Amino acid sequence: MTNSSFDLSGKVAIVTGGNGGIGLGIAEGLAGAGANVSIVGRDRAKTDAAAERLRGYGVEALALVADVSDDAAVRQVVASTADRLGGIDILVNNAGIAIRGMLQDYTEDDWDSVVDVNLKGMFLFSRAVYPHMVKAGGGKVINIGSMTSILGLDWAPAYGASKGGAVQLAKNMTVAWAKDNIQANAILPGWIETDLTAPLQTIAPDRRSLISSRIPQGRWGKPADFAGIAVFLASSASDYVTGAVIPVDGGFSSF
Ligand code: NDP
Repeated sequence: MTNSSFDLSGKVAIVTGGNGGIGLGIAEGLAGAGANVSIVGRDRAKTDAAAERLRGYGVEALALVADVSDDAAVRQVVASTADRLGGIDILVNNAGIAIRGMLQDYTEDDWDSVVDVNLKGMFLFSRAVYPHMVKAGGGKVINIGSMTSILGLDWAPAYGASKGGAVQLAKNMTVAWAKDNIQANAILPGWIETDLTAPLQTIAPDRRSLISSRIPQGRWGKPADFAGIAVFLASSASDYVTGAVIPVDGGFSSF
């Protein structure tokens, strides 16, 4: 193995939710390794700003606004990326939302919103990129799960179910698409400082302190902590790694 195994020059990646948080940390890792990146979010200004930042790495970056749970919009993103960047080699299914609440009080609308974005979005994007990866002779899919992919969390019924599904969907692709030289893996972030978790500071400070006390490495994660694992899973360095479920959690899930 040489350092060139991690080189992504000339590769094309789509990162859903790549305009902030963990998604932007991943997009920066991929761009730093030479990939051209298409990022997808709902907020136009945030998506444009993130693409501009990625261009600082000397790669091409597209800022595409779409809802990942809308099939027509997903197809448009995939077609436009393939047209403008010359194919699709890497898909990072990262966009996600959380609506907190106990199962007994949870509404059907909230359930549908969370599962549509977090899980159906992964299905729609993976299905849409498949022909492009086959055409390229292979590809890499990275699904972003969570600690709730493997652990129970009381106020996350739909979120936890969707994140369990993210792992199983990656395993489905592992088996179904091995013949196409497509590798699919899941990353499970621990507790990471982003817009998603920022509200804990005010709505549940005690819970936040408890979480902090249970992270062996003694700190919450940062989006930049995801650059290395993303480059590994997107590059030829991981060509025999598929169906893996990798915590990036400072040791949280081992404690
Ligand atoms: P952020 O809220 O910072 O980022 C979420 C991203 O998803 C944003 O870029 C957002 O874009 C995008 N997004 C949300 N809904 C949609 C949609 N319907 N269509 C398109 N894009 C959408 O959160 P994180 O960075 O923390 O989360 C990223 C992923 O990591 C999620 O899947 C989350 O579940 C997972 N995760 C996070 C953990 C943490 O501790 N932070 C822990 C475990 C998992 P926009 O703002 O433009 O809508």
